[in-house]
Amino acid sequence: MKYTKKIVIVGSGVAGISAALKLVDNNYPGELITIIDKGNDPYIRKPSEVMTGFAGAGGFSDGKLTYHTAIGGQLSKYCGEEKAYDLMDQSIEMWKRFHPDPSKIMYSDPQAEPDFIKPYFGLRLFPVYHIGTDYLHEIGKRWYQYLVDKGVKFAWNTEVTKIDFKEQSVEFKIDLKMPFPNKSYGYEFYDELIFAVGKSGIDFAQSLSDDYKLPTEPKSVQIGVRFESPQKYFQKLIDISYDFKLYQKYENVSLRSFCTNNNAAYVAVEETYGDVTYNGHAKKGEEFRNDMTNFGILMEIKGIEDPFKWSRDVVQECNVTNAQTEEKLGGLYYSPNQSRQPSNTSEGDKVKAHEIQENVLPLIRTSFGGYFEYIEDFIDQMNKVFEFGDDWGMYIPEVKYLSPEPLVNYTNLALNEYPNVHFVGDALSARGITVSGAHGIYVAEYLLTNVTND
Ligand SMILES: Cc1cc2nc3c(=O)[nH]c(=O)nc-3n(C[C@H](O)[C@H](O)[C@H](O)COP(=O)(O)OP(=O)(O)OC[C@H]3O[C@@H](n4cnc5c(N)ncnc54)[C@H](O)[C@@H]3O)c2cc1C
Repeated sequence: MKYTKKIVIVGSGVAGISAALKLVDNNYPGELITIIDKGNDPYIRKPSEVMTGFAGAGGFSDGKLTYHTAIGGQLSKYCGEEKAYDLMDQSIEMWKRFHPDPSKIMYSDPQAEPDFIKPYFGLRLFPVYHIGTDYLHEIGKRWYQYLVDKGVKFAWNTEVTKIDFKEQSVEFKIDLKMPFPNKSYGYEFYDELIFAVGKSGIDFAQSLSDDYKLPTEPKSVQIGVRFESPQKYFQKLIDISYDFKLYQKYENVSLRSFCTNNNAAYVAVEETYGDVTYNGHAKKGEEFRNDMTNFGILMEIKGIEDPFKWSRDVVQECNVTNAQTEEKLGGLYYSPNQSRQPSNTSEGDKVKAHEIQENVLPLIRTSFGGYFEYIEDFIDQMNKVFEFGDDWGMYIPEVKYLSPEPLVNYTNLALNEYPNVHFVGDALSARGITVSGAHGIYVAEYLLTNVTND
């Protein structure tokens, strides 16, 4: 086949680089692929740049690669169960391929829910591969070098600010930083566009959705807290499932533990729309061991009219700003009887969070519209199983902004009105590494068979 069409990928996150790899592995000329990212290449990307740069949020995450179609967002909806597993296999294989020592990847595949959980929670069972943040950096460098060697062009520190779907062009600004503190602007034309901006591009995705009045699929609210406690209390469950998913279901609310980190587990600040929310990651190196466990306790609330605005309002109410200096002090941290304080990040700084006491909890319950009690109840019930007493804390809030999911053609994830614009990863409906990568590969497979001049 002769390929001549120019592919522009906006976002060098998990989905974007998986698409590029699949393309060049199948003889798509790298010179015809341009990847534009507002962050840095993997050699100079700093640990504080959690969300941007080569491999995106996945590149500085905990690197837990889940392997189940019920986890990590929508995949089988587009391509069916069987194809979804094929794509997830390919996605995981890419991370193994660039790993300096694949034998170091941990794998867990729990088979049965233990009896001590049953009276209180359901436990979702699924396989997971665990890479760890430090190995992700090494994988990122190797993956990047491979793509560069294949001729793929990268534009770093370059933020796409406009896309004209009709003219087939993207407009960008380049942050030249010091010693050139001015911004430079430019255009790039495309034949096919892969839109892979992840969560850090959520506001941009929203503006495109508004400008082009893109039809969307309905979404629910996903909000909660990041829970943290010494690992010893959870060890009996961790031994069965590293990234355990406890869940409870009520009429219009379901709760689940989300993204568990252990051994060398750190709480991470995520900044979206200028507000602080929380997440977590784990390191592999023994020097980082802190014997802590952290995970999100997330509620999915159905029936809220404008879930996106509702979640943003809650997040804003849980953020504290210094009234005089207007400095953002972060989200909130609560530990019963102040028995714990916010932990250190993996870089040794305190996690940015404003400590609160019992008397502030009623305000938080109000901010969460009466749903916060579900989380408190979840923690009470965990306490019955794991007996951690007061030895825990929570960072408020953790949120999954489910960006409005554009309606796409399920065969190629392209907008119905603009069939050469493909949405992938978290910018579409993914919520994890394996599925984001699988989206990218799915689109690449489509392009390999359909975008040719022959
Ligand atoms: C702290 C943390 C821990 C996580 N841990 C896990 C985990 O263990 N397992 C798991 O499965 N998932 C985890 N996740 C989620 C996972 O990282 C994401 O689901 C995944 O990275 C999404 O891939 P993506 O390609 O869609 O977006 P991303 O990987 O976020 O990449 C998007 C890229 O687009 C770029 N970008 C954004 N806007 C623009 C623009 N306008 N112009 C140019 N470039 C732009 C960004 O710089 C970024 O590089 C974690 C996330 C975080 C933040």
